[in-house]
Amino acid sequence: MKVPTSCTSDSADKIAAKPVAEPLPYRSFNSYLGERFGAKVYRVPIDVGFDCPNRDGVRAFGGCTFCDERGSGAPTIDTALDVKSQLITGVERIRRRYGAEKFLAYFQAFSNTYAPEGILRVLYESGLQHPDVVGLCVGTRPDCVPDNVLDLLAEFHRKSFMWLEMGLQSAHNRTLDLINRAHTAEEFFDAVKRAKQRDIPAATHLIFGLPEETPEMMMETVRRVARSGVDGVKIHQLCVYKGTPMEVDYRLGKLPLLDEDVYVQLVADALELLPPEMVIMRLVAEGKRDELLVPEWSFEKSRIMEKIVAEMRRRGTRQGSRFVVRESVGECVESRV
Ligand code: SF4
Repeated sequence: MKVPTSCTSDSADKIAAKPVAEPLPYRSFNSYLGERFGAKVYRVPIDVGFDCPNRDGVRAFGGCTFCDERGSGAPTIDTALDVKSQLITGVERIRRRYGAEKFLAYFQAFSNTYAPEGILRVLYESGLQHPDVVGLCVGTRPDCVPDNVLDLLAEFHRKSFMWLEMGLQSAHNRTLDLINRAHTAEEFFDAVKRAKQRDIPAATHLIFGLPEETPEMMMETVRRVARSGVDGVKIHQLCVYKGTPMEVDYRLGKLPLLDEDVYVQLVADALELLPPEMVIMRLVAEGKRDELLVPEWSFEKSRIMEKIVAEMRRRGTRQGSRFVVRESVGECVESRV
C-alpha cells in the first residue's frame, strides 16, 4: 500500500537542508541513506500500472477511504513511459532540483508486489537499469507479500539494496475496518516478521487522526510498531484528498481533523516511543491545492516540521527517549527521561 501522492516525497528531513545549529532530534531517512551510500540519495517514483486487491475486488472494492485515484502515485510520473524512461526522466529532474547523486527506483503507486513473481522480477530488474540507481524501494500491502515474493525481494536485497514499505496506518482492526483497509493488523505484523526473517529492510506508514481514534490508540499503534522490528516509519496527519470517500464524510461534517498543535504533540510523543535507530521517513504530509482539501496546515509542511523539532527541543527529548529494550527478555519497555 502507498499513501496518497503528495505524501510521498522524501521530506521528513527537508528541514535538514536548512542551516540549523543543532542536529535533528530524530534519525532521518536522508541521513540514513547518506550513511549507507556515502552520497546524497533520493528516490525516483516509478509507476508500472499495478492494481490493488483492495480495489479490484480480490480483497474489497473501492480502496481505502483516504486513497485517491492514482493509488498514491506521484503526479510527476508520465505513466505512458516504460520503467527505463521513467527513471531517466525522474533522475534528471531530481538531480537538477535537489542535487542528488544516487537514486533508488521507487515502485510507488498502488501495490507493487501484486503480480506473478516472474513479472515482478523483470520489473525490478528494469528498475536497476540506470548507472546511478543503487537500489529499489517497493511499496505494497501486507497481504501482498507471500513467501515467494519475499524470497524475490531478499534476492534483490542481496545483490543491490531493497527497502520494503508496507502500509499499516493503525494497529486497531476496528479502525482498519472503518477506513476499508481490507487487511488486519495481524497480517501486517506477520508480514514484517517474514520480511525480517529474510533480512529485508522494512518500513511502514502510519496515519494520526483516523476516524474514532483517540491519542491513546495512536500511541498504542506506535508502541506496537516500535516492537515489531520494522526499520523505518512514515507518520502523517489524516489528509482529505479530493475525490475520495473521505471527502464525502468531511463535507457531511462526519470527519473531524486534527488541529496542528495537537498533531505536533502526537508526533513528539511518537518519536519518543520509537527506537532510536528506526529511520524516520516522514513526519508531515503535504499536498497541492488541486488535490488536497484539508487540513489547511498541510500546505505549510516546513513550518509544521519546525514546530515538531522545536517541541522536542523544548521537552529536551529525542527519538527513543522513552524506548528501552530489556535485553534479557528482548522486551521493550518505556522509561521517562
Ligand atoms: S492499499 Fe489502500 S491506499 Fe494503498 S493503493 Fe490500495 S486502496 Fe490505495
